[in-house]
Amino acid sequence: MNEEKTTSFESPIHARLQALHRELSGISEGDVATYIPELAKANPDWLGICVVTANGGIYEAGDTRQTFTIQSISKPFVYGLALEDQGRESVLRKVGVEPTGDAFNSISLDPDTGCPRNPMINAGAIATTGLVEGKTPLIRLQRIIDMFGKYSGRTMTVDEAVYRSESATGHRNRAISYMLRNFDILTGDPMPVAETYFQQCAILGHCLDLATMAATLANRGLNPITGQQAIRGEYVESVLGIMGTCGMYDYAGQWLYEVGMPAKSGVAGGIAAVLPGQLGIGVFSPRLDKHGNSVRGIRACSELSRDWDLHLFNRAGVGNSMIRHRFTAAEYGSSRVRAARERVAIGKHGNSVVQYQLQGNLVFATAEPIIRELTAVPAEVESIILDFHYVHSMNETACRLFHDILLQFHSAGRNVLFCAVNSIPHLRRVLKTKLGNRCDELFRVFEDNDTALQWCEDHLLERVLPPLPEMSIGADNYELLNGFSSDELVILRKFFERREWKAGETICNAGDAAREIYLLARGRVSVHYPLENGRSKRLAVFTAGMAFGEMAVLDRAPHYTNIVADIHTACDLISMAKLIALGISYPKIKIRLLENLALSLCSKLRKANQEASLLA
Ligand code: GLN
Repeated sequence: MNEEKTTSFESPIHARLQALHRELSGISEGDVATYIPELAKANPDWLGICVVTANGGIYEAGDTRQTFTIQSISKPFVYGLALEDQGRESVLRKVGVEPTGDAFNSISLDPDTGCPRNPMINAGAIATTGLVEGKTPLIRLQRIIDMFGKYSGRTMTVDEAVYRSESATGHRNRAISYMLRNFDILTGDPMPVAETYFQQCAILGHCLDLATMAATLANRGLNPITGQQAIRGEYVESVLGIMGTCGMYDYAGQWLYEVGMPAKSGVAGGIAAVLPGQLGIGVFSPRLDKHGNSVRGIRACSELSRDWDLHLFNRAGVGNSMIRHRFTAAEYGSSRVRAARERVAIGKHGNSVVQYQLQGNLVFATAEPIIRELTAVPAEVESIILDFHYVHSMNETACRLFHDILLQFHSAGRNVLFCAVNSIPHLRRVLKTKLGNRCDELFRVFEDNDTALQWCEDHLLERVLPPLPEMSIGADNYELLNGFSSDELVILRKFFERREWKAGETICNAGDAAREIYLLARGRVSVHYPLENGRSKRLAVFTAGMAFGEMAVLDRAPHYTNIVADIHTACDLISMAKLIALGISYPKIKIRLLENLALSLCSKLRKANQEASLLA
C-alpha cells in the first residue's frame, strides 16, 4: 500500500491548552453544586478548555465535548433576545444594569421600582425570560433554543432530568417570580415564566459550544464558523457590557480587574469568556467556589489572559497599518500599455494621482490615520484612488468620515475614486442616505484599482497632451518604426496591410496560432486573459501608435489572451510570411524592426520590474 506522507506540526496554541489542562487537572478545590439534585451527579474531575477565535480558529483540550447544562450562562444570551424582541428602552424599564455584588440567587430588587438590579442575578434573568416574545411558553422556549442554535452552530436540547430536578426544588426562584409579579415586572401568571427559565438553564452544551457562542459575541454577533448572525450587532455591546460588570456575580469586580474579559459562569461548572474582536473561551469543570464559579474555570481564564495578554484594557495602539500601500501614478502605473510620449507625461505629472490601498477593519481609530493623511494631500493632487480590496469591514462612523472628506474633495475639484467596495455594502448605504441623488455623481465606483488608475491616467493625459492624428506607415509615428529612412518606410509599406474592426469585434482569440504583428493606427484594443471561472482579467490596453501581437510572432506560441477592439479600430499589420519575406529581401530592415521590438519589450519589462519591486 502507498502510504501518503503528511507532515503535521502541533500548533503552539493547542500545546498551551494541553499543558494548561495537565496543570489544572491536579486541582481539586471546590464542590460540585448539589442544590439542584441532578447536578450532583456530575463527575467532579471533568475539565475541558476550548478557544474559538473571531475568525474561526478552534483549539480544544480535555473534555470539550462533554455536555452539561449551561445554567446561568443562558442569561446574557436570553437578555440579547429580549433586547431584540422589545428594544433597549422597554427592557431597561423592567431590568436595571447595575452590578449588585450580591449572590446570584439574591432577591435584589430596587425598593422604589421593584426592578431587578441586573439581568445576571436570578431575579433579573427571570424578568428577562418574561420579555421573550411568543404566544405560548412552548413557542418562547423554542425561540430561545433556536437562538442558542445560531450561537453554537448546533441544534441544542433541554436536559429533561436536570430541568425536572430544578423545577421540583426551585422554590426560591418561584418566590422571586412572585415578587416580580407583585411589582408588575412580570405580568400574568409568573409560574410559566419560572418554568421557561428552568428550561433555558437546563439547555445542554459543551465547551466547544460555549467557546463558539463567546466567539460569536466577540465577532459582533456573527458566528465565525457558520457565518450565521445570532444577534443584531447593535445589541452585542449591551450583552457584553452586562457580562463585564455582572457576569461573575459577587466576583465580577475582581474578575474584570484580573482577567479583564466579559464572562458568564453557570452552576454546572461552565464559563464563557469573550475578548471582543478577538476570541471566545469556553471552560468546563464542575467544582465551584463559594461564589458559584468554577474553580478551575477561573484559573484557566486567568492563566490564558496573563499568558496571551488578553486583558481587555491592555490593548496595543492600532498603529498605521491600514494604509497598505501608497503610490503615485508616476511610481505605479496601470496595466495600460502607453505610448512613449504618454509614459513621459505620466512620469512627469503622475504625482497628481495618488492611490491608497487600504486594509483591515475600519472604525474610528483605524479610519482616523487615513483621514489625517488625506486631509494633508498636497494641492497638486487632482485624483485620489481609495482601494478597499483588503478592507474587511467599515462601521458607520468610518463611512461617515469618508463621506465628509469626499464632500470636501469634491468641492475642491478633486476626483475621488472608490475601488472594490462591493464587499462593504455599508459604505454605499451610508453614502446613498447622505448624498441622496448626488450619490451617483459623487460616489465614483470602479471594479478594481487598475481600471480606476487607467481612468486617472486618461484624465491626466487629456489635460497635458495634445491629441494625435491618425497613424500611418511613413509618417514615422509608430514606435516600432522609429529610425527608418523614408525610403525604407516606402519598402515597409509594401509588406504591411491595413485592416479594420468595429467596436466589440475580436481581433484574436486565446489559443489562436500566431499570425501577425499589429501596429495600431487608430482606436483602442484591450487584452483579456481568460480565467477558469469563465470570466476574464483585463491585462492591457493599447492605443494608437503601439504594437501588439509581437510576442506570439517572436516565440511562435499560440496567443494566450483574447484581443478585442474597444472602439472602431484600424491597424497596419505584417503577417509572419511577409516578415520572413522581408528578411530575405531586406535583411537590414528586418534586423532594425526586430531591434525596435526588443526595445519595446525592454521598456515593458522595466516597468513591470519597477512595479513588482514596489510591491515586495
Ligand atoms: N438554574 C440556576 C438557578 O437559578 C442557575 C444559577 C447559576 O447558574 N448560577 O439557581
